[in-house]
Amino acid sequence: MQKLIRISNRLVYLPPYQETDRPILLAVKGDEKTLLIDAGNSSTHARLFLEQLEEYQMRGDWLVLTHWHWDHVFGMREMHMPKICHEETYNKIKELQTLSWEDRDLDKRVKEGTEIPFCANAMKKELGNQRDIVLPLPDLTFHHRMTIHLGGVTCTIEHVGGDHADDSSIIYIPEEKVLFLGDCLYANLYADEWNYTMEKTLQLVDSIEKYDDAEFIFLSHHNAPLTKEEFQLHLQFLKNTALLTGKYKGDGEAIADDMSVQLQRCLNEEELETIGYFVNGYK
Ligand SMILES: [Zn+2]
Repeated sequence: MQKLIRISNRLVYLPPYQETDRPILLAVKGDEKTLLIDAGNSSTHARLFLEQLEEYQMRGDWLVLTHWHWDHVFGMREMHMPKICHEETYNKIKELQTLSWEDRDLDKRVKEGTEIPFCANAMKKELGNQRDIVLPLPDLTFHHRMTIHLGGVTCTIEHVGGDHADDSSIIYIPEEKVLFLGDCLYANLYADEWNYTMEKTLQLVDSIEKYDDAEFIFLSHHNAPLTKEEFQLHLQFLKNTALLTGKYKGDGEAIADDMSVQLQRCLNEEELETIGYFVNGYK
């Protein structure tokens, strides 16, 4: 069972759990109010977070969602507080409300190509027989950016999009130098082949690299936050791969060779995989 980790007096988070694709859930405590980030992938997940927060005398006053994917919203019914999200996230949740999550319906959607096996399998494991998912509609939506004042600490939420989900939003907490990226840096998984596109990647990196003050950078399914240096190397790699994808017209081998020369070392498995996703996105 995951245990809350405290990073400062104001910040605690519940680490991810790969087995059922549980993402990180984070709480930001101000002098007046507390903001929770993401609702979790089930009622059980959300309750685990809320119960452990109580041990720290923390209770959420607002919830913000990073994007519409099931693993970030299915715990919403347990979150009895005003919910904030980007307007596209709101529309997507409205669509999710009409779906059934029973095996038969999930399998049917996987066959049709509107659901992916990766998510369907994780859902079955996480939810067991509890497929009665209640998704309340969020209360507040924003278009580009908004700031939440919690008392002594602020959270800036910005819509950044990207290949993973068009509605992806990130949260920056300047006083703590913490940047919460959700899933925005991951590939598009809702496709026949997982992919990154050049245009969206370059646009995304452009939106994110201005947060160069951040010292702790959270990706929802990464165990530990990235350091400033790791984050910058990661952004640089994505940006350069996008540029090389254009230069070599999606030729994976040529991209890898050039990148290897640039970095003056062999590429690791994860980097080669990322290049593969760009090749898929170029096709
Ligand atoms: Zn996602």
